[in-house]
Amino acid sequence: MVNLQKIKSPKNSILRISESSINYLKKLIGEKSDVIITTHYNPDGDAIGSSLALYHFLNAQGHNVRVIIPNELPSFLQWMPGSDLAVNYSENTDLGDSLISGADVIFCMDYNALSRVKLFTDQLRAANGTRILIDHHIQPENDFDLTFSVTTVSSTSELLYQILDEAGFASEISRKMAECFFVGIMTDTGSFSYACNRPETFQITANLINAGLDVEKVHRMVYDTYSESRMRLLGHCLGSNLKVLTEHATAYIWLTKQDLENYNYQQGDTEGVVNYALSIQNVAFAALFTERDDRIRVSLRSKGEFNVNEFARANFNGGGHRNAAGGDVFKSMPDTLNWFESLLPDISENVHKSLANYK
Ligand code: 5GP
Ligand code: MN
Repeated sequence: MVNLQKIKSPKNSILRISESSINYLKKLIGEKSDVIITTHYNPDGDAIGSSLALYHFLNAQGHNVRVIIPNELPSFLQWMPGSDLAVNYSENTDLGDSLISGADVIFCMDYNALSRVKLFTDQLRAANGTRILIDHHIQPENDFDLTFSVTTVSSTSELLYQILDEAGFASEISRKMAECFFVGIMTDTGSFSYACNRPETFQITANLINAGLDVEKVHRMVYDTYSESRMRLLGHCLGSNLKVLTEHATAYIWLTKQDLENYNYQQGDTEGVVNYALSIQNVAFAALFTERDDRIRVSLRSKGEFNVNEFARANFNGGGHRNAAGGDVFKSMPDTLNWFESLLPDISENVHKSLANYK
């Protein structure tokens, strides 16, 4: 069993999930109720992985459970067990609204602010059900009745595993649940290349294998399923739309609507693209700018101590983690890129410092 009281974060602080929160959750699990599980807009592997793992668990406990996703899943996640039963709010608004207003319990997975669901924020705020947050992003808002927020875990999936383990349900983790947990852990750590320095991340993965997980199969389903156009879009990003600013240890990639159209863009096709910019030697700060109908979507990554969560909050009305964050800009693409470059001299020293300490 993974003891939450004793888990050490990278900075050696102790994580604490209070016994009273676990007891509250256990009591709730013991009473049959109408439950909905919600996650953030543009759900990623951890968002849907943690949501579906919880779905399978609560379903097996006899609850009436539905997962509501704000919009479509990328195709590389559509194989996941139970994903076909999730309600896509953008396509089933009426059903989504009635599920939200009728729910006794509302789980909020992998997001720290109600605004992150984007399409049903007001409905969540107005709902009478008990709102329970399970999340690993920093600075969660105060809109929840019960908050499980731990920022030193790899992923919300890992956190959910630990909560269920702590509540005494480790033996009830099925193969389906194991696959869902693993998708979350694998995708949020870039296949165990970042945010995975705690031994518990690997201990939990070993437990998932014991519960029936086939690591190689799941990895293949998520990462070896690129469409040809997605691969060529990546080629275009790296070949034509990448700018490296050595003087600021920064690199960025941009994608216009025309680029996306040229490469038959499908939801999820730009997942992971920003990491290529960050993989460049002597780059400690990377950005991806993607043109949408009404905004430019920004994805930020950093190596080391340079805090992109703060940068996203200060400039892009966004947030996330220290090394991975996102936000929006309401300017044209050329104006956005110029503005971004104009912000760099002020942070350049910090980015360089981050790079120097990272090596
Ligand atoms: P991505 O670049 O992969 O979209 O997001 C990186 C991380 O930042 C994810 O953990 C995501 O949840 C978070 N994030 C992305 N966009 C936003 C945003 O607009 N607001 C907040 N608070 N977090 C975001
Ligand atoms: Mn996550």
